[in-house]
Amino acid sequence: MKLQGCKNCETKFSYKAIQRAFFSKTEKRFKCENCGTEHKLKRDYHRIISIIVVLPMFLHWFLISLDRLLVLSITIAYVIAIILLIPNIVKYDKI
Ligand SMILES: [Zn+2]
Repeated sequence: MKLQGCKNCETKFSYKAIQRAFFSKTEKRFKCENCGTEHKLKRDYHRIISIIVVLPMFLHWFLISLDRLLVLSITIAYVIAIILLIPNIVKYDKI
């Protein structure tokens, strides 16, 4: 997986810019640092990420026999991994 580039000038987006845009509460969009073209998060990706993050919470029901601290550690590690991978997963479209 590689980071997406600008749809206009193909400049690679920075990892931090994508992550910041994804976690912004208001607008899921940002400008290309090179040409200023605005990009917006593709509609479905926010939902996909939410599902990926929430899914392991339901697995707790099945992992109940395991040590709680272990389950908690695995969950936290999983969520952190997803957060770090978000810029590689999500896609943006030119507005
Ligand atoms: Zn650009």
